[in-house]
Amino acid sequence: MSPIKSALWYAASGVPVLPLHTGLGGGRCSCRRPHCDRPGKHPRWHPRLITAGLHQASTDADQVRRWWAAWPEANVGLRTGIAVDVCDVDTDSGLHLLRDLVGDLDDTPLVQTGSGGLHLYFAASGAPSRVRVLPGVDWRGEGGYVVAPPSIHGSGVPYRWIQHGPAPPCPPALLRLVVPPPPPPPPVVRHPGRYASAALDNEAKRVRWAPVGERNNTLYRAARSLGRLAAAGLLDPYDIVSALTPAAIAAGLGPAETARTIHSGLTAGRRAGTVGAMPA
Ligand SMILES: [Zn+2]
Repeated sequence: MSPIKSALWYAASGVPVLPLHTGLGGGRCSCRRPHCDRPGKHPRWHPRLITAGLHQASTDADQVRRWWAAWPEANVGLRTGIAVDVCDVDTDSGLHLLRDLVGDLDDTPLVQTGSGGLHLYFAASGAPSRVRVLPGVDWRGEGGYVVAPPSIHGSGVPYRWIQHGPAPPCPPALLRLVVPPPPPPPPVVRHPGRYASAALDNEAKRVRWAPVGERNNTLYRAARSLGRLAAAGLLDPYDIVSALTPAAIAAGLGPAETARTIHSGLTAGRRAGTVGAMPA
């Protein structure tokens, strides 16, 4: 199929297309720059036709016809993340890893790229583009695009379909690699009740004025009894550390010793459980 027919077919299937430069063989590119670093892969540019590359990718048939009327040989770029995502496999070992992960790929549309790699087409997952989801395997999703058949690679070799059909959903095992982990939950901000606040102030004072020789023990007991309140959900451990640390430093304890003692006191207090042993 000619580039324009292919481009119209992709667009009619709901996949936004964009015109790319064309590989001329020997690593050369239709942009004619002597050292083009992405031969056959970067968007065409023209002040009246296309100026923003990927962001102008379109499913509009008239737009597609205008582009390929201007550049009949243009490579066909497909914006990912809208209708399809593409798993970009560069190496044999990448393909083995992928097969181990998701099993056979008999129902997955497959393109052999001009560099000998593979593009596996899946229904858009909502995941962003990411490099190296596995060694030798990249993911082209939101914010990305791929070069599609019948484009010509910089080496002069065309991209070609070796398996056709509707793009299936991304297999769950692969999706888990592709979707970034959720951000950590925000720290719990609790407003301690009156009793817990008073306990916190009292323990901090006790630590601050502890006599030399008793400072470390006092700090440990304070952390342990406040740790019980934390275990009961009455205090945020963060508030305990924030109150006891400056008190202990003011009493003359070193920062490292302070941190260690607070940690072991809190741990003991939380282990001891909740009710019954309220601080004096
Ligand atoms: Zn170029």
